[in-house]
Amino acid sequence: MGYAELHHQSLVDRDTYWAEQARRIDWHTPFTRVCNHDNPPFTRWFEGGTTNLCHNAVDRHVATRGEQNALVWVSTEVGIEKAYSFRELQAEVMTMAAILQAQGVQQGDRVLIYMPMIPEAVFAMLACTRIGAIHSVVFGGFASVSLAQRIEDAQPTLVVSADAGSRSGKVVAYKPLLDEALRLSAHKVPKVLLVDRGLAPMPRTEGRDVDYAPLREQHQGAQVPVVWLESTAISYTIYTSGTTGRPKGVQRDTGGYAVALAASMEQIFLGKPGETYFSTSDIGWVVGHSYIVYGPLIHGMATILYEGLPTRGLNGEPDPAIWWRLVEKYKVTAMFSAPTAVRVLKKQDPAALKQHDLSSLRALFLAGEPLDEPTGRWIADALGVPIIDNYWQTESGWPILTIANGVERKESRFGSPGIPMPGYDVKLLDEQTGEALTQPNQKGVLVIEGPLPPGFMQTVWRDDARFVNTYWKSVPGKMVYSTFDWGIRDADGYYFILGRTDDVINVAGHRLGTREIEESLSSHAAVAEVAVVGVADTLKGQVAMAFVVLKDPGLAATPAGALALEGELMKVVDTQLGAVARPARVRFVTALPKTRSGKTLRRVIQALCEGRDAGDLSTVEDPGAVQQIRELFSAG
Ligand code: AMP
Repeated sequence: MGYAELHHQSLVDRDTYWAEQARRIDWHTPFTRVCNHDNPPFTRWFEGGTTNLCHNAVDRHVATRGEQNALVWVSTEVGIEKAYSFRELQAEVMTMAAILQAQGVQQGDRVLIYMPMIPEAVFAMLACTRIGAIHSVVFGGFASVSLAQRIEDAQPTLVVSADAGSRSGKVVAYKPLLDEALRLSAHKVPKVLLVDRGLAPMPRTEGRDVDYAPLREQHQGAQVPVVWLESTAISYTIYTSGTTGRPKGVQRDTGGYAVALAASMEQIFLGKPGETYFSTSDIGWVVGHSYIVYGPLIHGMATILYEGLPTRGLNGEPDPAIWWRLVEKYKVTAMFSAPTAVRVLKKQDPAALKQHDLSSLRALFLAGEPLDEPTGRWIADALGVPIIDNYWQTESGWPILTIANGVERKESRFGSPGIPMPGYDVKLLDEQTGEALTQPNQKGVLVIEGPLPPGFMQTVWRDDARFVNTYWKSVPGKMVYSTFDWGIRDADGYYFILGRTDDVINVAGHRLGTREIEESLSSHAAVAEVAVVGVADTLKGQVAMAFVVLKDPGLAATPAGALALEGELMKVVDTQLGAVARPARVRFVTALPKTRSGKTLRRVIQALCEGRDAGDLSTVEDPGAVQQIRELFSAG
């Protein structure tokens, strides 16, 4: 069957298509209904069926490929390379599951995982899904206020963490940030399980904090059976930014997610069981969940868990070829990264790419942010393999737009992530009228008609109303899921993504809400008002730029005063949200461009920063505010 036909079937004969895909995974009890969309926009996949993510990722492979690599940990930060076979991984996961149970974790409880890229983080995720606990992994780059918000929302029974991570050889202590978050949170966490890597001192709180190493000894060899879960049971939540300052808990199911990932591994990612998959993402992001942990393992592939920069070798030496060294060594067949990482590599000596045998590699997949043509071409020429862009979101869990070369080979187009994947009924709508745009090259809001495919978020954790109001009500008169991205479709059906319709920005593939950064800056006593916008950046795609109105403008009257205050404000963001959210610059102004009704014109500020035409400025209340920003940027 050609791809067009397959995609058509996935929409018009949905149940037959997905029932067929569902055969890719093990079911303990067969499902009785494929897709229940009786209560839109909610979708329930594979009702009546019971299964388990951990069983599909680990246990079912033990009989057939028990001695093969499952998890390969490479840390160029601490100089360790260690492989776990499927059998060893199963043993570690059961030990972790026994520890969690002994600490009181039960089915349905939340376990928050705040960890660097170490194997124990993966053991913890799999141990949770094994026993039906809901994991919520928080990116290790987030600091205490971000973490506290997520703890309050998830209300975990237990937090799994570590003494520290490491970045570019520098220890980044986690425990002080966690302790501060636990102090700030109104929800009091009963137990904290700590992995001590020996990198940073780690004070323990008596009665709450327990150490992993002695418990691992104690529970080694434990046999913890998988708990068969309803297909619709929640497997995990992952927080993501939106237009408000409050992150949303994206909630995912069990069976639908397993099926979607299993299908994507073959149809999109071209992987085969027994091969090795290498995603350079982080377990704190959705790509890490789907394509470091669950996808490759469900497909019987080894997965590389990489802690470190793309430019440092195992002994801490500069090595711009470290990733290609790993591709050669582990015969990686599919690799997944982000355009920003490629732009970092582009600055290195291109010869580095030629030193290693990359013949095992079928394709490099890039996602998370727009792939600009020069970056795409550079890496395609350097690697000599197809570069497959793929567009998706934390919400979707797997690609919405890309090329399913595993179904039918089809050319990629530079600048376009591709075409809709199976189960995705993608449309472009006119923002004002909600009408579907049918002509080529018309710009509209990219939306998805329900029912959403398996693997997509079920709802916002504990907040169905927020799910409906946020995602399904933004287009007048239509109940459709909005991606909040602008797009166009060319005459051949290829889509192009033109940026967000909301205040979400994308820094090095990391999604940040400008409101969260604004709220953080506003907590500083000197700040009267603030606006944060995303500004185009050649390396990171976008960077955050902050404009601050001070209560006392005199504080920034001298260059030295302004510089000191800028540093202080950046530090506020660092300690509250984490360095990922730190603005590239904080500039001081005496007023922000606003409408007469008082709405800050972020789009005008953004255009001024990027040296673009800011459009019609007649609605701006105070032209002086525009002039100040223009001058700041023309002066560099
Ligand atoms: P996240 O939820 O962090 O994965 O961010 C999702 C957002 O990143 C999308 O809504 C897009 O704005 C952007 N994005 C992700 N992948 C791509 C891509 N391949 N091309 C363009 N934009 C992308």
